[in-house]
Amino acid sequence: MANGCEVVKRHKDFVKNLIKISSDTGRELSFSICVKDGQESGYTSVGEELFVEVPPCPKDMKFVGSVHTHGNIDFFSSIDYYVFANGSEDFMCVAYEEGGKHYVRCIHRPKDTNRWLWKVAEVSSREAEVRDLFNDYQEAVNDFISRANSEEEKILEKMRDLKKRLRQKMDELRKASRDAEYDACVLEL
Ligand SMILES: [Zn+2]
Repeated sequence: MANGCEVVKRHKDFVKNLIKISSDTGRELSFSICVKDGQESGYTSVGEELFVEVPPCPKDMKFVGSVHTHGNIDFFSSIDYYVFANGSEDFMCVAYEEGGKHYVRCIHRPKDTNRWLWKVAEVSSREAEVRDLFNDYQEAVNDFISRANSEEEKILEKMRDLKKRLRQKMDELRKASRDAEYDACVLEL
């Protein structure tokens, strides 16, 4: 099995550029690494703000792994995990920015997919919690904008509380996603 960090190391500058282009355009980018006769080739695709499809390898090449950009989010989403679970590639990585530095974080194919998918389900339910809380927060903001001055203080209080809970839930989501990682490695670009 190919090690994601070792493979990506050979494409360091290219992946660094992907992160830059992604932050300039506000779109996720994906990069597939394909191999034929020991020769590596890369294929890229451009996605939406929060989603990108992994470009397929040509039929006569082996799909070894992929990297996709994640802005400043340093963990995998449940969709990332589910897509990976359905594939055959050795690794999947996210490329992200943190404190002005660029990193790639890779996971590898688990031996026991069924057990692993239980952890992914946990990630998925944490995401739903964050989404709900985020909607509540959005609602409070709208309330704040439309209400009379007398209620401002109350709504502000609610917004502060929601923001705090949102941060906590984000931490829990990140932890659940980390727990679901299999054989992870991190590479500074
Ligand atoms: Zn992702």
